[in-house]
Amino acid sequence: MSNAALMRLQLPQSEQSLRQRFSMARSRMKLTILSAALLSASCSFLPAACSGALAGSRDAMCWTPAELRGTPNDWKPVKGTPAAFRRPPLRALAPLAPVDPRLRGVIRGVRLPPNEKIIALTFDLCEEPYEVSGYDSRIIDYLRDEGVEATFFAGGKWLLTHDVRGQQLLSDPLFEVGNHTWEHRNLRIVSEPVLKSEIENAEAAYEEVRQNFEGRRCKTGAPDGSALSRPPERMSLFRFPFGACDERSLNAVNDAGLLAIQWTFASGDPAPLQSSEKMVKAVLSRVRPGAILIFHANGRGWHTAEALREIIPRLKEMGYKFRTVSELLKLAPDKIEKAATCYDNKPGDSDRYDALAAKLELQYQKFEKQIKAQPRG
Ligand SMILES: [Zn+2]
Repeated sequence: MSNAALMRLQLPQSEQSLRQRFSMARSRMKLTILSAALLSASCSFLPAACSGALAGSRDAMCWTPAELRGTPNDWKPVKGTPAAFRRPPLRALAPLAPVDPRLRGVIRGVRLPPNEKIIALTFDLCEEPYEVSGYDSRIIDYLRDEGVEATFFAGGKWLLTHDVRGQQLLSDPLFEVGNHTWEHRNLRIVSEPVLKSEIENAEAAYEEVRQNFEGRRCKTGAPDGSALSRPPERMSLFRFPFGACDERSLNAVNDAGLLAIQWTFASGDPAPLQSSEKMVKAVLSRVRPGAILIFHANGRGWHTAEALREIIPRLKEMGYKFRTVSELLKLAPDKIEKAATCYDNKPGDSDRYDALAAKLELQYQKFEKQIKAQPRG
């Protein structure tokens, strides 16, 4: 996305108005479901009169509030399952120009004045080749309940293994979805073709899931905000797996028209020893206007859902508001904080994942061989 494109984005709505929109949407949703059912019933008697109404309009809500909510079965990753093996969709990708030179590099936050208490919460939905990772509905349901905007960085394969959840996220006006590669490979150590496919296959998966959503012809774009939003044609943000990149992979991402989004500081939620209390303390002690925070919503975050139930109310008490990353960047496009490379706290610290990633690559190869050796049913 170019700087000019960032500037052209609509101004974010206030949290208050979002809340109002969502409570209106919920009450209207029940009525819409009822009227869709009535229309459907009468159409069985008068099909010619109704064919346009059902097929051509966007009158139906896609999901009931109950269908949007998750269950404990969704949370946990499943390892070593044949369901994890997916082929990327073969698609001609929607075009996008390379990133504007002013926005190339690694974005870590925005310098906002102390009184402009706005931050971006981000949640990674990583999925490696041998797993179907989770959908932590405890987090997503809570964000919806609280009217908290957020950005999700989804693996392309995650989107395919969670097609309906993906559709729900990318059409929710509270959320935006960015690219987290096809299968979560460390882009510092992969070959040129794998680097390219990790970026492009995730985009192809996004476009496929977006197309599946469009095929439902759900009610979108109502002026009062009572409907789902129409997802953009393609993603414009990218997050590197392991928070690790080098000059080659960073250039490839920016050349593909994607802004590289790191974080101002990490919640530390993938560490099993990270308690909810420690996470709350870490976030509240380091938060500042314009910060981008990283969590996980794929079942890899330990205690994330529990910690957020304290972090979000406390941040609200402190006067903070939550925006998607795109909206945060648009608030001060000339004050975006960038680095020349990816890192967690200091330059070079995410390079330590190279050895781990090399070991994982061997596991992925083993898994692929096992899957290919299985008889096809
Ligand atoms: Zn990840």
